[in-house]
Amino acid sequence: MLDILDSKDLEARADAIVERIHGYLDAGQRVFTTSSFQTQSLPLLHMISRVDRNIPVYYTNTGFLFPKTLRFAEEVGDRLGLNVIPLRPEVPKIKQLDRSGRFLYASDPDHCCYLNKVQPLEPVLRDHDLWINGVRADQSSTRAAMQEEEPAQFGCLRYHPMLGWNSRMVFYYRQMHDLPEHPMEADGYLSIGCEPCTMRAIGDGNARNARWFGMNKTECGLNTTLVSGGN
Ligand code: SF4
Repeated sequence: MLDILDSKDLEARADAIVERIHGYLDAGQRVFTTSSFQTQSLPLLHMISRVDRNIPVYYTNTGFLFPKTLRFAEEVGDRLGLNVIPLRPEVPKIKQLDRSGRFLYASDPDHCCYLNKVQPLEPVLRDHDLWINGVRADQSSTRAAMQEEEPAQFGCLRYHPMLGWNSRMVFYYRQMHDLPEHPMEADGYLSIGCEPCTMRAIGDGNARNARWFGMNKTECGLNTTLVSGGN
């Protein structure tokens, strides 16, 4: 169990994030956040709920998400009183097939992610000043190279408040605030995205390696394409 000093430290870190988001709002910044509604998303969503429950929480409903994720997003939104807004892809699925008639995730997952995850977020970026994004350095080498603040596309700024947090801190913060777990974790899924691209957890110590397993791909593009200078 977390000792009292550690729990105080964790609360102090959370308080600092809450204060900083208040600061952006007080400065007149148009703020939004995104969430994949996984268990690890809960601490940041809890902090957002402490700041202002009107802050938009966008998630990209690609059409390929697990039904349990959609239900979890609804439950978490209700429980924390969040302003959850689903985004839908502009390009219909019938136009997302390759020459063989297969969905693009089978042959060109980067383009599939662009159409279903990145493109729907572009108008949101144009309409806001600050994107609160919950990436953590311990999730991948791409994320480890990120800064706490970074320019995103369309003049938006990314703020990464969870960059220095790790999975243990996420676990204890959830315990301290009695925050729920994605229902598929009990079935061995530790990093959950679209159904075709999510494997059960694989035992190499990195939960994200269960995504796009067997492909030369580790990010959907939200954290690569949508940084300033991305394609
Ligand atoms: S995660 Fe897979 S199914 Fe989802 S948008 Fe990316 S390639 Fe397509």
